[in-house]
Amino acid sequence: MKIMVFMLFALALMQAPRITYGEDFGYDGNTGPTFWSERYRECAGKHQSPININVLHVKQVTLPDITFIGFDDSIDNVHVTNNGHTVLIEVRNEPHPRVRGGPLEGDYVFSQMHFHWGDNDTFGSEDKINHRSFPMELHMVFFKEEYKSVSEAVKHQDGLTVLAFFYELDRHFHPAYDDITSALTNVTEPYTSVVMSHPFSFLNILPYDLKRYFTYRGSLTTPPCSEVVIWLDFEQPIRLTHEQV
Ligand SMILES: [Zn+2]
Repeated sequence: MKIMVFMLFALALMQAPRITYGEDFGYDGNTGPTFWSERYRECAGKHQSPININVLHVKQVTLPDITFIGFDDSIDNVHVTNNGHTVLIEVRNEPHPRVRGGPLEGDYVFSQMHFHWGDNDTFGSEDKINHRSFPMELHMVFFKEEYKSVSEAVKHQDGLTVLAFFYELDRHFHPAYDDITSALTNVTEPYTSVVMSHPFSFLNILPYDLKRYFTYRGSLTTPPCSEVVIWLDFEQPIRLTHEQV
């Protein structure tokens, strides 16, 4: 058992998240967001995420349909990792799911997804809609295929797209989140990783309506805050129970 734990730990270190996040940031006190720009100049930029989306100021446009490729595939070997800041879900087997269409030019390949949450259900999302916070937000990160990797993509203005989904509370349990929440009990320590016990499908954890979304040009929401992200914030929230959040 001890050897097993060590191997998982080593695996997590070797296959650290492919986005090079800053390591020395937090969300409170003197490592909180207002201090990020002291070490990461871009965090003081003009196109920083997160933002509040004021629905009255949104321009309604018609864009080509988004094509979600591989989202209903049943994917094996999905890793859940505690990277010290968040919970990452990564796919190790090729081909990775991808997206195209909407405001995007070219194909974007899946890199990882992760969550943002708060201390309680009154806040936790990064973007807000009409100043409303949601208890949690899912970010699915994709890099532009022509740049070949996330590390190259973050050098370009159109390098990444993030599909963002908000969560709302519901009395009804969402069964597709079962595997994620049970994996969490095995990664309570930073830099630990587990493989999901069942095949995983992206579509199962998403809301029904994938046609209506807000889109804008912004940044990574953590250091180094690079302004390289085409954001797609989906309007329809995903509904989970309080316990699941
Ligand atoms: Zn994020």
